[in-house]
Amino acid sequence: MYFLYLYENFSAVERKCLDCGDTIRGRADKKFCSDQCRNNFNNKLNRDSNNFVRNVHGLLRKNRRILADLYDEGKTIIHKDALYAMGYNFSFFTHVIESPGGNRYHYCYEYGFREKGDDFIELKQNSQYIEYQ
Ligand SMILES: [Zn+2]
Repeated sequence: MYFLYLYENFSAVERKCLDCGDTIRGRADKKFCSDQCRNNFNNKLNRDSNNFVRNVHGLLRKNRRILADLYDEGKTIIHKDALYAMGYNFSFFTHVIESPGGNRYHYCYEYGFREKGDDFIELKQNSQYIEYQ
């Protein structure tokens, strides 16, 4: 929102509508020339943040699908290259659970894995209820 901050500092000189750029007349705190421009601007902001959420959700669902398919086929020890080849994205996961033995499992929803070393991972399923604190 750096842009908005700049805009407010200069607004005493000349105020322009944040949506269409037209000069604004009227109250000093007005940011839009009309209700329609205010609605346009807010809709654009919402669309951008919704796209971001949709894209991240898509990546997580794809990751989960890959882990679920492997798990259903009975594969629990997998080389990371195989996951990369299937389009797995290691940057996206839903949560991390540390086992009592100190192993860190990265989860995509109910499917998780831990690093076994030598670029192998061990896959695990855990559909237990998660308690949020
Ligand atoms: Zn406008």
